[in-house]
Amino acid sequence: MSNNVSNNASKPIMLVTGGSRGIGAATAIGAAARGYQVAFSYLNNKTAADDVVKKILDAGGHALAIQADVGIEADVLRLFKTVDETMGTLVVLVNNAGMLEQKMRLDQMDLGRWQRVLNANVIGSFLCAKEAVLRMSTLHGGKGGAIVNLSSAAARLGSPNEFIDYAAAKGAVDAMTIGLSKEVAMEGIRVNAVRPGLIYTDIHASAGEPGRVDRAKAGVPMQRGGTAEEVADTVLWLASEQASYLTGTLIDVTGGR
Ligand code: NAP
Repeated sequence: MSNNVSNNASKPIMLVTGGSRGIGAATAIGAAARGYQVAFSYLNNKTAADDVVKKILDAGGHALAIQADVGIEADVLRLFKTVDETMGTLVVLVNNAGMLEQKMRLDQMDLGRWQRVLNANVIGSFLCAKEAVLRMSTLHGGKGGAIVNLSSAAARLGSPNEFIDYAAAKGAVDAMTIGLSKEVAMEGIRVNAVRPGLIYTDIHASAGEPGRVDRAKAGVPMQRGGTAEEVADTVLWLASEQASYLTGTLIDVTGGR
């Protein structure tokens, strides 16, 4: 754990899963600039996590990086307990951590891959959403809050010949967003999702194609890939009071794709 938080009780607390790189890092940095105390998790890349903490501290913000695999329940429980004990009451959860495996057809995939993809992308989001609801819901003595899930345009496009398993996992995230938003609508919690399209981050390298965005951008009506910051701006708006009448909403950030 990189514990670099200064106490500032007046600042709302946001937890971003997978905040060391890509969209999560842009969200953590943007949240700190908007006045949140930010806790974020990472899987392995401590160097990248420390770099995000440093950027936030250098800009005068408050940040805490915690190693935790969202697909492991004990890690998620430790993650939320650390935020409780170090920062205080959580106001926003951004369920951002997600992963892809090598692109291939469904008939080339195996059981182990499906278990890994569904565990990280679906079970991870469920585990974190449960812990957030237990802290935010007025039913449990909380003061409300917001959950923003990172889904994907893949949920409606299906990702044929690449990663149907990942697309299906994001479809599950969409369904959870809609169901949970209705379940907790009268308990002070808004639940929404952002569905990015082709965004310049490292995730495409893990699918075996680092240049995937540039290869596929001709299929985007705006003819370009998006930036992590463009997605983060939407996530942070959904988390904010400016989006006070939105819940159960899925916002595509795709350049029209
Ligand atoms: P990325 O650049 O690959 O970064 C992934 C982040 O998640 C890293 O901080 C990584 O930690 C962390 N992470 C991965 N698996 C984790 C796990 N099991 N537990 C905890 N943390 C974990 O990804 P990204 O492109 O920013 O994607 C962020 C989210 O947006 C994901 O949910 C993704 O599915 C979604 N999305 C992305 C795109 C796109 O084009 N980039 C499009 C649609 C949706 P380490 O640094 O320690 O590895």
